[in-house]
Amino acid sequence: MVSTFPNPSSVDLSGVRLSIRSLQPQLVEWRRRLHQQPELGFQEKLTAELISQKLQEWGIEHQTGIAQTGIVAIIKGNKLGSEKVLAIRADMDALPIQELNQVPYCSQHDGVMHACGHDGHTAIALGTAYYLSQHREDFGGTVKIIFQPAEEGPGGAKPMIEAGVLKNPDVDAIIGLHLWNNLPLGTVGVRSGALMAAVESFNCKILGKGGHGAIPHQTIDAVVVSAQVINALQSIVARNVNPIDSAVVTVGELHAGSKRNVIADTARMSGTVRYFNPAYKGFFYQRIEQIIAGICQSYGAKYDLEYWSLYSPVINDAGMAELVRSVAEEVIETPLGIVPECQTMAAEDMSFFLEAVPGCYFFLGSANPAKDLAYPHHHPRFDFDETALAIGVEIFVRSVEKFLN
Ligand SMILES: [Zn+2]
Ligand SMILES: [Zn+2]
Repeated sequence: MVSTFPNPSSVDLSGVRLSIRSLQPQLVEWRRRLHQQPELGFQEKLTAELISQKLQEWGIEHQTGIAQTGIVAIIKGNKLGSEKVLAIRADMDALPIQELNQVPYCSQHDGVMHACGHDGHTAIALGTAYYLSQHREDFGGTVKIIFQPAEEGPGGAKPMIEAGVLKNPDVDAIIGLHLWNNLPLGTVGVRSGALMAAVESFNCKILGKGGHGAIPHQTIDAVVVSAQVINALQSIVARNVNPIDSAVVTVGELHAGSKRNVIADTARMSGTVRYFNPAYKGFFYQRIEQIIAGICQSYGAKYDLEYWSLYSPVINDAGMAELVRSVAEEVIETPLGIVPECQTMAAEDMSFFLEAVPGCYFFLGSANPAKDLAYPHHHPRFDFDETALAIGVEIFVRSVEKFLN
């Protein structure tokens, strides 16, 4: 479903929508400027400069340099009656990818690209900040806009929370969005509960005993041991995880051996684990180690396992998800555009904000195959339909007004 937002025949052309529609050229300009100067996690200097310069221009109180490059803007409403604080989170970082798009606003930084849409997230948050600062009479309470570094890793949400961005004034709830090319323009993916998965990673070295390929009985073959380990790891999802829950164990790397007639001394593998249900925290580490230890023991091999947790699952609060859903339905003007089956095993460090305060993270449909704007996220030809920018701003603005009034 492709909507032609902003729709001129729209019922509500007064107020909010009309003013936001008029922001579309600036939203595109900011997004393209950011797209041309992509920066990796914790190096978002030009990005932060642009944000700070705009906020200053608009007279918006803000603090820079939080968790290195993060920024928090504070916008107080003039309406009496509400003391509540709503935060809006946008991530700012790009990826180490060489852009293959041939557009006038192509990345000018070699080997770095906004291939996930965070340039759009920043532009939407800027547009929201600008609109709210110009319409303080429409809401009470306070809006905090959090521009976060390093979502793609190693993660900027945690250090920003540790730096106190959810305090003083204390945030009551948080919302955030991801432009989403898995959904067409004119749709919004929003649901209560788990939206995105937890991510954990591991490196494992199998330590055998090398030798002659024709004299195996004098060796401990690290290739044979790793083959058993990799197969057995698949039994965790098949046989240990409740089939009602979703989980993934992927071994993405395996390196061993140097020649066909040499039995490998060691093998190295690495993998990723995903799951939605927070009850599985710690479980995969335990089970993976049990399997590796058991198999290694039975072959006389040793192992060295490194295991770490990166992001928790993104879990939406039921009340906040309902607020965003009802707002999105007004904005895109059809309940058919609301997609509740939008879960993904991809991960996001928005999860740490959602662990700290109730909130809702949602997907803003941004694909438009008719304009060849449907490449997946992290693809060197990723790009999205910029019409989604104003839709994002309108959902944020209306969510603010609904939450704070
Ligand atoms: Zn990404
Ligand atoms: Zn992303």
